[in-house]
Amino acid sequence: MAGILVVGEVSGEALNPVTGELLSAASKLGDAPISVALMGDSLAGASEAALDHGVAKVLAIEHAALKNAGAGGYDAAVIALTALVKQEAPDVVLFARTDLGYNVAPRVAFRLQVPVAQDCVDLKTDGGNLVVTRPVFGGNAMADYVFGEKRPAIAIIRPKVFQARPPAGARTGETVRPGIDIASDQIRATLVETVKEARHGVRLETAEVVVSGGRGLGGAEPFKLLEELAGLLNGAVGASRAACDAGWVDHSKQIGLTGKSIGPKVYIAVGISGASQHMAGCSGARAIVAINKDPAANIFKEARFGVVGDWQKVVPAFLAAVRELGRA
Ligand SMILES: Cc1cc2nc3c(=O)[nH]c(=O)nc-3n(C[C@H](O)[C@H](O)[C@H](O)COP(=O)(O)OP(=O)(O)OC[C@H]3O[C@@H](n4cnc5c(N)ncnc54)[C@H](O)[C@@H]3O)c2cc1C
Repeated sequence: MAGILVVGEVSGEALNPVTGELLSAASKLGDAPISVALMGDSLAGASEAALDHGVAKVLAIEHAALKNAGAGGYDAAVIALTALVKQEAPDVVLFARTDLGYNVAPRVAFRLQVPVAQDCVDLKTDGGNLVVTRPVFGGNAMADYVFGEKRPAIAIIRPKVFQARPPAGARTGETVRPGIDIASDQIRATLVETVKEARHGVRLETAEVVVSGGRGLGGAEPFKLLEELAGLLNGAVGASRAACDAGWVDHSKQIGLTGKSIGPKVYIAVGISGASQHMAGCSGARAIVAINKDPAANIFKEARFGVVGDWQKVVPAFLAAVRELGRA
Protein backbone atom coordinates (compact mmCIF):
# COMPACT_ATOMS: atom_id res chain seq x y z
CA MET A 1 0.00 0.00 0.00
CA ALA A 2 1.53 3.34 -1.10
CA GLY A 3 0.27 5.56 1.65
CA ILE A 4 -2.56 6.31 4.03
CA LEU A 5 -3.94 9.80 4.55
CA VAL A 6 -5.73 10.36 7.85
CA VAL A 7 -7.97 13.42 7.89
CA GLY A 8 -7.28 14.69 11.39
CA GLU A 9 -9.53 17.05 13.31
CA VAL A 10 -8.75 20.14 15.32
CA SER A 11 -10.73 21.54 18.27
CA GLY A 12 -9.79 25.13 18.94
CA GLU A 13 -6.06 24.87 18.35
CA ALA A 14 -5.62 21.37 19.80
CA LEU A 15 -5.63 18.01 18.05
CA ASN A 16 -9.04 16.36 18.51
CA PRO A 17 -8.68 12.88 20.12
CA VAL A 18 -10.66 11.31 17.25
CA THR A 19 -7.45 11.75 15.21
CA GLY A 20 -5.72 9.22 17.53
CA GLU A 21 -8.55 6.77 16.86
CA LEU A 22 -8.07 7.14 13.09
CA LEU A 23 -4.33 6.57 13.54
CA SER A 24 -5.07 3.30 15.37
CA ALA A 25 -7.33 2.27 12.50
CA ALA A 26 -4.63 3.20 9.97
CA SER A 27 -2.03 1.11 11.87
CA LYS A 28 -4.12 -1.99 11.10
CA LEU A 29 -3.26 -1.62 7.41
CA GLY A 30 0.40 -2.66 7.70
CA ASP A 31 3.55 -0.61 7.31
CA ALA A 32 2.34 1.92 4.73
CA PRO A 33 3.45 5.46 5.64
CA ILE A 34 0.73 7.45 7.40
CA SER A 35 0.23 11.17 6.80
CA VAL A 36 -2.20 13.38 8.70
CA ALA A 37 -4.05 16.21 6.97
CA LEU A 38 -5.06 19.07 9.23
CA MET A 39 -7.22 22.05 8.28
CA GLY A 40 -7.70 25.29 10.18
CA ASP A 41 -6.61 28.88 10.50
CA SER A 42 -3.90 28.22 13.09
CA LEU A 43 -2.39 24.75 13.17
CA ALA A 44 0.96 25.02 14.97
CA GLY A 45 -0.16 23.28 18.19
CA ALA A 46 -2.21 20.56 16.50
CA SER A 47 0.60 19.83 14.00
CA GLU A 48 3.10 19.33 16.85
CA ALA A 49 0.66 17.01 18.63
CA ALA A 50 0.12 14.99 15.43
CA LEU A 51 3.90 14.61 14.93
CA ASP A 52 4.12 13.20 18.47
CA HIS A 53 2.07 10.25 17.19
CA GLY A 54 5.02 9.19 15.03
CA VAL A 55 3.39 9.87 11.66
CA ALA A 56 5.47 10.27 8.49
CA LYS A 57 4.09 13.67 7.58
CA VAL A 58 1.64 16.30 8.81
CA LEU A 59 0.03 18.19 5.94
CA ALA A 60 -1.13 21.42 7.52
CA ILE A 61 -3.50 23.43 5.34
CA GLU A 62 -3.84 26.82 7.00
CA HIS A 63 -6.38 29.25 5.60
CA ALA A 64 -8.80 31.76 7.11
CA ALA A 65 -11.68 30.01 5.32
CA LEU A 66 -10.76 26.79 7.13
CA LYS A 67 -11.38 28.13 10.65
CA ASN A 68 -13.16 25.21 12.35
CA ALA A 69 -12.51 23.35 9.06
CA GLY A 70 -14.87 25.78 7.40
CA ALA A 71 -17.80 24.50 9.49
CA GLY A 72 -21.22 25.22 8.11
CA GLY A 73 -21.07 24.51 4.43
CA TYR A 74 -17.64 22.82 4.57
CA ASP A 75 -17.00 24.07 1.01
CA ALA A 76 -13.44 25.14 1.85
CA ALA A 77 -12.62 21.76 3.39
CA VAL A 78 -13.97 19.93 0.33
CA ILE A 79 -11.87 22.09 -2.01
CA ALA A 80 -8.73 21.76 0.14
CA LEU A 81 -8.94 18.02 0.63
CA THR A 82 -9.79 17.24 -2.99
CA ALA A 83 -6.68 19.15 -4.07
CA LEU A 84 -4.55 17.54 -1.36
CA VAL A 85 -5.60 14.01 -2.26
CA LYS A 86 -4.77 14.70 -5.92
CA GLN A 87 -1.32 15.98 -4.87
CA GLU A 88 -0.50 13.21 -2.41
CA ALA A 89 -2.16 10.29 -4.27
CA PRO A 90 -2.66 8.05 -1.19
CA ASP A 91 -4.15 4.57 -1.53
CA VAL A 92 -6.48 5.04 1.41
CA VAL A 93 -8.07 8.11 3.00
CA LEU A 94 -9.63 7.78 6.47
CA PHE A 95 -12.20 10.20 7.89
CA ALA A 96 -14.01 9.99 11.23
CA ARG A 97 -17.80 9.83 11.27
CA THR A 98 -18.05 13.30 12.74
CA ASP A 99 -19.80 16.35 11.25
CA LEU A 100 -16.67 16.97 9.19
CA GLY A 101 -16.29 13.39 7.93
CA TYR A 102 -20.00 12.92 7.34
CA ASN A 103 -20.24 16.09 5.24
CA VAL A 104 -16.88 16.24 3.51
CA ALA A 105 -15.86 12.66 2.68
CA PRO A 106 -18.71 11.86 0.23
CA ARG A 107 -18.23 15.19 -1.54
CA VAL A 108 -14.47 14.61 -1.93
CA ALA A 109 -15.18 11.07 -3.19
CA PHE A 110 -17.66 12.42 -5.71
CA ARG A 111 -15.22 15.05 -7.00
CA LEU A 112 -12.51 12.40 -7.37
CA GLN A 113 -14.98 9.80 -8.71
CA VAL A 114 -13.77 7.19 -6.23
CA PRO A 115 -15.72 4.92 -3.83
CA VAL A 116 -16.51 5.80 -0.22
CA ALA A 117 -17.77 3.60 2.64
CA GLN A 118 -19.73 5.12 5.53
CA ASP A 119 -19.81 4.04 9.17
CA CYS A 120 -16.95 1.50 9.12
CA VAL A 121 -16.32 -0.39 12.35
CA ASP A 122 -13.29 -2.38 11.20
CA LEU A 123 -10.82 -2.49 8.33
CA LYS A 124 -7.99 -4.59 6.89
CA THR A 125 -6.20 -5.16 3.62
CA ASP A 126 -6.63 -8.13 1.32
CA GLY A 127 -4.35 -8.48 -1.68
CA GLY A 128 -3.51 -4.78 -1.50
CA ASN A 129 -7.17 -3.74 -1.47
CA LEU A 130 -8.95 -2.11 1.45
CA VAL A 131 -11.68 -4.20 3.10
CA VAL A 132 -14.05 -2.50 5.55
CA THR A 133 -16.71 -3.90 7.87
CA ARG A 134 -20.03 -2.05 8.10
CA PRO A 135 -23.38 -2.72 9.80
CA VAL A 136 -26.18 -3.70 7.41
CA PHE A 137 -29.92 -4.46 7.74
CA GLY A 138 -30.38 -1.80 10.42
CA GLY A 139 -27.39 -3.09 12.41
CA ASN A 140 -28.60 -6.71 12.57
CA ALA A 141 -25.62 -8.02 10.58
CA MET A 142 -22.12 -6.99 9.61
CA ALA A 143 -20.84 -7.07 6.03
CA ASP A 144 -17.35 -6.82 4.56
CA TYR A 145 -16.93 -4.50 1.57
CA VAL A 146 -13.89 -4.90 -0.68
CA PHE A 147 -12.72 -1.77 -2.51
CA GLY A 148 -11.72 -2.28 -6.13
CA GLU A 149 -8.85 -0.88 -8.17
CA LYS A 150 -9.84 2.80 -8.00
CA ARG A 151 -7.64 4.87 -5.71
CA PRO A 152 -7.92 6.22 -3.16
CA ALA A 153 -10.37 4.12 -1.19
CA ILE A 154 -12.18 6.45 1.21
CA ALA A 155 -13.50 5.08 4.50
CA ILE A 156 -15.43 6.91 7.24
CA ILE A 157 -14.68 5.31 10.60
CA ARG A 158 -17.20 5.22 13.43
CA PRO A 159 -15.84 7.08 16.51
CA LYS A 160 -15.09 5.20 19.74
CA VAL A 161 -14.59 1.88 17.98
CA PHE A 162 -10.79 2.11 17.98
CA GLN A 163 -8.82 3.08 21.09
CA ALA A 164 -6.90 6.27 20.33
CA ARG A 165 -3.26 5.58 19.48
CA PRO A 166 -1.06 7.07 22.22
CA PRO A 167 1.77 9.45 21.25
CA ALA A 168 4.82 7.46 20.07
CA GLY A 169 7.50 9.33 21.99
CA ALA A 170 10.05 9.43 19.16
CA ARG A 171 9.32 11.78 16.27
CA THR A 172 10.24 10.81 12.74
CA GLY A 173 8.03 13.02 10.61
CA GLU A 174 7.82 16.65 9.60
CA THR A 175 5.14 19.26 8.99
CA VAL A 176 4.59 20.29 5.39
CA ARG A 177 2.42 23.24 4.36
CA PRO A 178 1.01 22.31 0.96
CA GLY A 179 0.25 25.26 -1.29
CA ILE A 180 -3.47 24.91 -1.88
CA ASP A 181 -5.53 27.66 -3.39
CA ILE A 182 -9.02 28.17 -1.98
CA ALA A 183 -10.69 30.73 -4.19
CA SER A 184 -13.30 32.70 -2.25
CA ASP A 185 -15.79 32.60 -5.15
CA GLN A 186 -15.89 28.79 -4.81
CA ILE A 187 -17.20 29.02 -1.26
CA ARG A 188 -20.95 29.13 -1.60
CA ALA A 189 -21.98 28.47 2.00
CA THR A 190 -20.52 30.24 5.00
CA LEU A 191 -21.11 29.93 8.70
CA VAL A 192 -23.12 32.95 9.82
CA GLU A 193 -23.68 32.16 13.48
CA THR A 194 -23.08 29.36 15.98
CA VAL A 195 -25.69 28.91 18.71
CA LYS A 196 -24.41 26.80 21.57
CA GLU A 197 -26.92 24.39 23.07
CA ALA A 198 -27.28 25.06 26.79
CA ARG A 199 -25.76 22.07 28.53
CA HIS A 200 -25.23 21.27 32.18
CA GLY A 201 -22.65 18.82 33.45
CA VAL A 202 -20.54 16.34 31.54
CA ARG A 203 -20.70 15.87 27.73
CA LEU A 204 -22.35 12.62 26.72
CA GLU A 205 -19.75 11.94 24.01
CA THR A 206 -16.79 12.11 26.40
CA ALA A 207 -18.34 11.04 29.71
CA GLU A 208 -16.58 8.21 31.55
CA VAL A 209 -19.89 7.06 33.03
CA VAL A 210 -23.19 7.07 31.14
CA VAL A 211 -26.53 6.19 32.73
CA SER A 212 -29.04 5.39 30.00
CA GLY A 213 -32.77 4.84 30.17
CA GLY A 214 -35.15 2.98 27.88
CA ARG A 215 -38.83 2.28 27.32
CA GLY A 216 -38.85 0.21 30.51
CA LEU A 217 -38.74 3.43 32.53
CA GLY A 218 -42.28 4.14 31.42
CA GLY A 219 -42.09 7.95 31.25
CA ALA A 220 -40.07 11.13 31.53
CA GLU A 221 -40.21 11.42 35.32
CA PRO A 222 -37.85 8.49 36.12
CA PHE A 223 -35.13 10.17 34.01
CA LYS A 224 -34.76 12.61 36.93
CA LEU A 225 -33.47 9.69 39.01
CA LEU A 226 -31.02 8.81 36.24
CA GLU A 227 -29.91 12.48 36.12
CA GLU A 228 -29.22 12.35 39.84
CA LEU A 229 -27.32 9.07 39.58
CA ALA A 230 -25.29 10.36 36.64
CA GLY A 231 -24.53 13.56 38.56
CA LEU A 232 -23.24 11.62 41.58
CA LEU A 233 -21.03 9.49 39.31
CA ASN A 234 -19.80 12.55 37.40
CA GLY A 235 -21.40 11.11 34.29
CA ALA A 236 -24.03 11.93 31.67
CA VAL A 237 -27.49 10.63 30.80
CA GLY A 238 -28.24 8.77 27.57
CA ALA A 239 -31.34 7.04 26.23
CA SER A 240 -32.64 4.46 23.80
CA ARG A 241 -34.46 5.54 20.67
CA ALA A 242 -37.73 4.29 22.13
CA ALA A 243 -37.36 6.71 25.07
CA CYS A 244 -36.44 9.58 22.74
CA ASP A 245 -39.25 8.82 20.28
CA ALA A 246 -41.70 8.84 23.20
CA GLY A 247 -40.60 12.40 23.93
CA TRP A 248 -39.27 11.55 27.42
CA VAL A 249 -35.79 12.87 26.58
CA ASP A 250 -34.26 14.93 23.82
CA HIS A 251 -33.02 13.11 20.72
CA SER A 252 -29.54 14.52 21.33
CA LYS A 253 -29.27 11.89 24.08
CA GLN A 254 -30.02 8.93 21.80
CA ILE A 255 -27.37 6.22 21.80
CA GLY A 256 -27.16 3.83 18.87
CA LEU A 257 -26.94 3.28 15.17
CA THR A 258 -28.93 6.41 14.39
CA GLY A 259 -27.79 8.23 17.54
CA LYS A 260 -24.46 8.78 19.23
CA SER A 261 -21.57 6.32 19.50
CA ILE A 262 -19.95 6.46 22.89
CA GLY A 263 -17.12 4.63 24.65
CA PRO A 264 -17.44 5.32 28.39
CA LYS A 265 -15.70 3.27 31.08
CA VAL A 266 -19.10 2.28 32.48
CA TYR A 267 -22.46 2.19 30.69
CA ILE A 268 -25.46 1.63 32.96
CA ALA A 269 -28.52 0.59 30.91
CA VAL A 270 -31.83 0.82 32.75
CA GLY A 271 -34.96 -0.69 31.18
CA ILE A 272 -33.23 -1.12 27.81
CA SER A 273 -33.68 -4.42 25.97
CA GLY A 274 -30.35 -4.27 24.12
CA ALA A 275 -31.50 -4.21 20.48
CA SER A 276 -28.58 -4.45 18.04
CA GLN A 277 -29.25 -0.87 16.86
CA HIS A 278 -28.86 0.39 20.42
CA MET A 279 -25.77 -1.71 21.15
CA ALA A 280 -24.14 -0.31 17.99
CA GLY A 281 -23.73 2.95 19.90
CA CYS A 282 -22.39 1.62 23.20
CA SER A 283 -20.37 -1.47 22.31
CA GLY A 284 -17.23 0.63 22.84
CA ALA A 285 -18.03 0.80 26.58
CA ARG A 286 -15.51 -0.98 28.76
CA ALA A 287 -18.19 -2.37 31.08
CA ILE A 288 -21.95 -2.51 30.61
CA VAL A 289 -24.17 -2.78 33.68
CA ALA A 290 -27.74 -3.81 32.84
CA ILE A 291 -30.82 -3.38 35.01
CA ASN A 292 -33.79 -5.16 33.45
CA LYS A 293 -36.70 -7.18 34.81
CA ASP A 294 -36.55 -9.69 31.95
CA PRO A 295 -33.75 -12.26 32.49
CA ALA A 296 -33.91 -13.14 28.77
CA ALA A 297 -33.30 -9.53 27.61
CA ASN A 298 -30.55 -9.31 25.00
CA ILE A 299 -28.70 -6.67 27.04
CA PHE A 300 -27.59 -9.39 29.48
CA LYS A 301 -25.62 -11.08 26.66
CA GLU A 302 -23.51 -7.94 26.31
CA ALA A 303 -23.38 -6.81 29.95
CA ARG A 304 -20.48 -7.49 32.28
CA PHE A 305 -22.75 -6.99 35.31
CA GLY A 306 -26.48 -7.50 35.35
CA VAL A 307 -29.30 -7.02 37.84
CA VAL A 308 -32.55 -8.83 37.04
CA GLY A 309 -35.21 -6.73 38.68
CA ASP A 310 -37.62 -3.83 38.53
CA TRP A 311 -35.76 -0.52 38.17
CA GLN A 312 -38.20 1.03 40.64
CA LYS A 313 -36.60 -1.10 43.36
CA VAL A 314 -33.04 -1.36 42.01
CA VAL A 315 -32.27 2.23 41.01
CA PRO A 316 -33.37 3.96 44.28
CA ALA A 317 -31.37 1.38 46.29
CA PHE A 318 -28.34 1.87 44.04
CA LEU A 319 -28.71 5.67 44.35
CA ALA A 320 -28.86 5.44 48.14
CA ALA A 321 -25.69 3.32 48.18
CA VAL A 322 -23.86 5.78 45.90
CA ARG A 323 -24.99 8.73 48.05
CA GLU A 324 -23.72 6.88 51.13
CA LEU A 325 -20.35 6.23 49.46
CA GLY A 326 -20.15 9.92 48.55
CA ARG A 327 -20.63 10.85 52.21
CA ALA A 328 -18.04 8.35 53.48
C1 LIG B 1 -32.82 1.45 11.29
C2 LIG B 1 -33.03 1.46 12.77
C3 LIG B 1 -32.22 2.27 13.54
C4 LIG B 1 -32.37 2.30 14.92
N1 LIG B 1 -31.53 3.08 15.68
C5 LIG B 1 -31.61 3.03 17.02
C6 LIG B 1 -30.69 3.76 17.84
O1 LIG B 1 -29.84 4.52 17.36
N2 LIG B 1 -30.82 3.63 19.18
C7 LIG B 1 -31.75 2.82 19.78
O2 LIG B 1 -31.78 2.76 21.02
N3 LIG B 1 -32.62 2.14 19.04
C8 LIG B 1 -32.58 2.23 17.68
N4 LIG B 1 -33.50 1.54 16.93
C9 LIG B 1 -34.63 0.90 17.64
C10 LIG B 1 -34.29 -0.45 18.26
O3 LIG B 1 -34.47 -1.48 17.32
C11 LIG B 1 -35.17 -0.75 19.49
O4 LIG B 1 -36.51 -0.66 19.09
C12 LIG B 1 -34.95 0.21 20.66
O5 LIG B 1 -33.57 0.29 20.98
C13 LIG B 1 -35.72 -0.32 21.86
O6 LIG B 1 -35.58 0.57 22.93
P1 LIG B 1 -35.72 0.05 24.43
O7 LIG B 1 -34.69 -0.99 24.69
O8 LIG B 1 -35.76 1.25 25.29
O9 LIG B 1 -37.20 -0.54 24.43
P2 LIG B 1 -37.71 -2.04 24.48
O10 LIG B 1 -37.08 -2.88 23.42
O11 LIG B 1 -39.19 -1.97 24.52
O12 LIG B 1 -37.15 -2.59 25.86
C14 LIG B 1 -37.61 -2.16 27.10
C15 LIG B 1 -36.95 -3.04 28.16
O13 LIG B 1 -37.29 -2.58 29.44
C16 LIG B 1 -37.47 -3.68 30.28
N5 LIG B 1 -38.36 -3.27 31.38
C17 LIG B 1 -39.70 -2.97 31.31
N6 LIG B 1 -40.14 -2.57 32.50
C18 LIG B 1 -39.08 -2.63 33.35
C19 LIG B 1 -38.90 -2.36 34.73
N7 LIG B 1 -39.94 -1.94 35.51
N8 LIG B 1 -37.68 -2.55 35.29
C20 LIG B 1 -36.64 -2.98 34.55
N9 LIG B 1 -36.73 -3.25 33.22
C21 LIG B 1 -37.95 -3.08 32.64
C22 LIG B 1 -38.08 -4.75 29.40
O14 LIG B 1 -37.84 -6.05 29.94
C23 LIG B 1 -37.36 -4.51 28.09
O15 LIG B 1 -36.21 -5.33 27.98
C24 LIG B 1 -33.37 1.51 15.55
C25 LIG B 1 -34.18 0.69 14.77
C26 LIG B 1 -34.02 0.68 13.40
C27 LIG B 1 -34.90 -0.23 12.57
